[in-house]
Amino acid sequence: MTSVTIGVLAVQGDVREHLAALRSAGADTRAVRRPAELEQVDGLVVPGGESTTIDRLCRVFGLHEPIRARIAGGMPVYGSCAGMIQLADEILDGHREQQTFGGIDMTVRRNAFGRQVDSFEADLHLSGLRDPQRPVRAVFIRAPWVERVGDGVEVLAATDGHPVAVRQGGLLATSFHPEVTGDHRVHEIFVQMVHAQRR
Ligand code: GLN
Repeated sequence: MTSVTIGVLAVQGDVREHLAALRSAGADTRAVRRPAELEQVDGLVVPGGESTTIDRLCRVFGLHEPIRARIAGGMPVYGSCAGMIQLADEILDGHREQQTFGGIDMTVRRNAFGRQVDSFEADLHLSGLRDPQRPVRAVFIRAPWVERVGDGVEVLAATDGHPVAVRQGGLLATSFHPEVTGDHRVHEIFVQMVHAQRR
């Protein structure tokens, strides 16, 4: 199989863990801080962190519009936690000036679980996983939940009645952080999506 290069948006957040998880899942990787680096990747991960900071720095570094353009052009993107927020077409409880890349027809509420409890873990069954009987250990840290999904959005997992893993075409998003568990099956799904797009 030819290799794919997947970038991790590296302006803020848990970049290193995603680079390691992607490599374990069989992808070549590179950190993306500049538009020229974005041009060299077949897919992109937007990590967890603080979505307002990721948004602000992307606009400062001139990455916001190029990322939107690549998404419009069909580049696969996986967003985890803050990254899920940045892939939502609409957000609730965002910062007044916060902008997202958008792409997934959904409404996401920031810090939704965080109002109840700052962080928690749950075992989730997620469709599309290798070895589907074995749940993923999902780590939620001041996590968003999804309040609305459009018709084209596939819900891969939910907890307490809220979707926490969704997919629309080449875009994948989770409220939780699979990169911190050592189980790289969610990253494997994304690597396969990037391969499928390259074919
Ligand atoms: N609460 C953060 C935000 O709004 C997301 C937290 C996370 O990525 N772990 O961006």
